[in-house]
Amino acid sequence: VRKIDVETIRQDFPILGREVNGYPLIYFDNAATAQTPKQVMDAIVDYYSNYNANIHRGVHALSQEATDKYEQARIKIQQHFNAEHAHEIIMTSGTTHGINLVANGFSSLLKSGDEILVSAMEHHSNIVPWQMLAEKTGAKLKVIPMNEKGELILDEYRNLISDRTKLVFVNHVSNALGTVNPVKEIIDIAHEAGAAVLIDGAQASPHIKADVQELDVDFYVVSAHKMCGPTGVGMLYGKQEWLEKLPPYQGGGEMIATVSFEKTTYAGLPHKFEAGTPNICGGIAFGAALDYMNSIGFEEIASYEDELLQYATSRLKEIEGMKIYGEAEEKTAVISFNVEGLHPYDIGTLLDKMGIAVRTGHHCAQPVMDFFKIPGTVRASFAFYNTKEEIDTFMEALKKALMMLQ
Ligand code: PMP
Repeated sequence: VRKIDVETIRQDFPILGREVNGYPLIYFDNAATAQTPKQVMDAIVDYYSNYNANIHRGVHALSQEATDKYEQARIKIQQHFNAEHAHEIIMTSGTTHGINLVANGFSSLLKSGDEILVSAMEHHSNIVPWQMLAEKTGAKLKVIPMNEKGELILDEYRNLISDRTKLVFVNHVSNALGTVNPVKEIIDIAHEAGAAVLIDGAQASPHIKADVQELDVDFYVVSAHKMCGPTGVGMLYGKQEWLEKLPPYQGGGEMIATVSFEKTTYAGLPHKFEAGTPNICGGIAFGAALDYMNSIGFEEIASYEDELLQYATSRLKEIEGMKIYGEAEEKTAVISFNVEGLHPYDIGTLLDKMGIAVRTGHHCAQPVMDFFKIPGTVRASFAFYNTKEEIDTFMEALKKALMMLQ
């Protein structure tokens, strides 16, 4: 795999040049939101400077230009995730929106006695909408358990699944542990039992280029802001046959074919699921973010981030009382840890005083914290623009913080 040129890449991210609390910023909160390169900011400025207009309805030049660029972005997303059709890409406000859209759709397809399976390591956004769905329909929610290393137990999954199972939803990568789940196997097992599968790709998408046709997945959801794009935009991929079966989520403009007070008929895909004026600029910037990441290359990104992960993991193990949560064989560059006797929040606060951004808390995955019987962790998550030198500085700061706290 070609080595990436980190110093050149860093020039694309103006924010990496700033200081925080008098120290050069070290940004290790990439799993929450990735930073934005100039190329994406340029796409945003270009939109507002040159062709800001509402899409799909206008005959005038600006509207047509905006429509073309927005639909081009949809095609970039389609190509990136290798969907068969562009209309299988639904533009959303992010992962949470995509999941709620599908969960809402299934409320008319499930009945009491049906079962839905969720993994033990989900983000709240991939738990709560399904709980709401279970309450509404009488379907039963069951949990695929994990082991101490933070890996799903596939034998237990095989035992849980039956012809009552209608839906399985699992994240591709866990935001709390970094575990890469064997989604292809999970999908194949579900399909054998006749169940549909939704994969939450929010954490996988910055590291792994998912091929939805090869995975044969029914639904795949991501957020642009984890992949160097803006917040408030994302995509839901759905197989055409499923998207046709599901009812619309929200009513409004753009999603109709005809409206009268007696009866409304809905537009075809993808518009049926895209009520109202979308985040036009955000969608276009999402396309620009994909172009940017692809110009660096996902294999290159993954290989470099893995180097950072291995290096940081071995350095963290120098610290006495260090406990790392999530030691799966397949892992992205996320390290969740605690130091014996200390509260993660205190560590995070002291690191911030030294210009280092990490996340502390339950990472919207309380069941994972409950599993390890902890209130939360410190989470350092790396991106392709981070460096080993930053990890060294982080280690010095961490040791200083621990001295102050112990
Ligand atoms: N799922 C996972 C695994 C995540 O990491 C996140 C973001 N932390 C989400 C879902 C929710 O994404 P968003 O807030 O962009 O909708």
